[in-house]
Amino acid sequence: MPTPFKIIADIYEKLEKVSGRIEMRSLLTALFSKIPEDDIYEAVHLTLGQLGPDFMGLEFGVAEKLTLRAISLATGIDERTLMSKLIESGDIGKVAEWALSKKKQMALFVEELTVDNVYKNFKKMTELSGQGAMELRVKLLAELFQKASPKEGKYIARIATGTMRLGVAEATVLEAIAASIGALHKKDLIEKKYNIYPDLGEIARILKREGVAGVEKIRITLGVPVRPMLGERAKDPREIIERHGVSLVEYKYDGLRMQIHIKKDGFIRIFSRSLEDLTSQFPDVVKFVRESFRGEEAIVEGETVAIDPDTLEFRPFQEVAHRRGRKYDIQEAIEKYPVATYLFDCIYANGEDLTDKKLLDRRKVLESLFDWNASDRIFISEAKLIDNVKDLEEFFLKAIEDGCEGVMAKDPESPYKAGVREWLWIKYKRDYKSELTDTLDLVAVGAFAGKGKRAGTYGALLMATFNPEENTFETVCKLGTGFDDRTLQKLPEIFRPYLRQGKHPLVKSNIEADYWFDPVVVLEVQGAEITLSPVHTCARDRVKPGYGLAIRFPRFTGRWRRDKKPEDATTSDEVLEMYKKQLRKVGE
Ligand code: ATP
Repeated sequence: MPTPFKIIADIYEKLEKVSGRIEMRSLLTALFSKIPEDDIYEAVHLTLGQLGPDFMGLEFGVAEKLTLRAISLATGIDERTLMSKLIESGDIGKVAEWALSKKKQMALFVEELTVDNVYKNFKKMTELSGQGAMELRVKLLAELFQKASPKEGKYIARIATGTMRLGVAEATVLEAIAASIGALHKKDLIEKKYNIYPDLGEIARILKREGVAGVEKIRITLGVPVRPMLGERAKDPREIIERHGVSLVEYKYDGLRMQIHIKKDGFIRIFSRSLEDLTSQFPDVVKFVRESFRGEEAIVEGETVAIDPDTLEFRPFQEVAHRRGRKYDIQEAIEKYPVATYLFDCIYANGEDLTDKKLLDRRKVLESLFDWNASDRIFISEAKLIDNVKDLEEFFLKAIEDGCEGVMAKDPESPYKAGVREWLWIKYKRDYKSELTDTLDLVAVGAFAGKGKRAGTYGALLMATFNPEENTFETVCKLGTGFDDRTLQKLPEIFRPYLRQGKHPLVKSNIEADYWFDPVVVLEVQGAEITLSPVHTCARDRVKPGYGLAIRFPRFTGRWRRDKKPEDATTSDEVLEMYKKQLRKVGE
């Protein structure tokens, strides 16, 4: 027996009037108990205002105007009247209810609307594309309104326009499903399975069909995203060491989390942190993952960050954010905002679920799955086993200086706990953000050989501030961004007159450059902020023993300050002042 849509609409109406989780759960439990296994998938998803889990990408949502047209077709009431009603109430559901109540006076509806009818018509609407698709969608929607009672019409209009908003949380739906088959005591198990197979409709169908035993059989499945493991936040590095003893501390890349499902035959799916399918938005990631994958099949996780394609240095988060949510101009965006992916975990490999394995073992598997030399866009995350606060602070500052957001400290023995936020992973981020408004004039004291596209020229310059007290040049950043192609090619020629054997005696550097220059040429540089650095010598020991200052995200503005002598460059003291000002600004 097909389930009448009326059963659902009645419960929706009641749900609208309650707000407590317990009440909601008991209403939903009553609803799901009444629905047979053949309709439960559809009923669960319609209740959540969707046709399937997010990862299926069943794009939905009909414009209000088209919904009004469908109501008009079904009721004979003209669109203008309906529009004025909509302006009056602001609720398309109410407009549909009103219009259908008028119709009721004219004729009795013939056929009863079923859950299956509603779901199928909506599904067909998502499948239509191309010419005439819009009209067909309106027709399919109008068919539903023709059969609907006023109350049913109200919810159909809301589902159609993506404005269901019953306020039921997924967790409540999950509990109601469990309760509807008398398995609330097995909630934890069901939730665990939901975390590796996040489709409530499917879980409900399996529960109805096979009971808890069926759910127990659910396994990690290639193509179905696993809910991500999450971390708590530490206030200082001490807390991390206290909790973990020894911790695997990784760079915390500032980009988009990606869970990548890969098969040797070329199948790839990329899912976001919220389990949306990102595959079509990142064909470049698909390509480099495919090119370097050496396993049979796997699910790996990583962070995709914006990079400077020539130096592979990180770019700010805003740049990768431009790549998100695009349907058009994808190729253009790939060129404008190139990205690289840093993998940090492996959940499944070659038929084996790795979630119960220790992090260090999962990482070993991850290492073995890729040819890390096949592409310069895919890497394994920078990580170090650390057991003391000092080393942790140093690693953190290096991460910040390299353009990361901070660190992710992970218990090396920990399993992968899908969908869970615990202290097994601890994030420690810098707690301020500031934009440097002033540019700096820095002296080039050395350079690094370029690789890949930059072979034959420099990959980056080593830049320094001037310290007038000691008459030295102190390094403050590597500069590889902001040069146009022509300048880039000409860099060795520009610096040829200043090349020298070994470091200039006035240059203070802890970094070994490939080429050293006489400190003569001054360039204008824009940075994002100043950070403490365990490497650079600018204002060393002035803020903290053993640390200097560095410029984060430095970019050449295009201005060669030929009008400035190296002694006119920004001084280390000025950088120190900027650093203090930045801290004060944050404190405000
Ligand atoms: P959360 O994801 O914990 O809810 P959020 O969305 O605010 O919080 P953050 O607080 O910035 O994100 O930190 C967590 C995110 O950091 C991860 O979801 C992941 O995208 C990112 N990340 C970057 N590098 C790593 C890494 N090495 N290991 C794990 N996550 C990383």
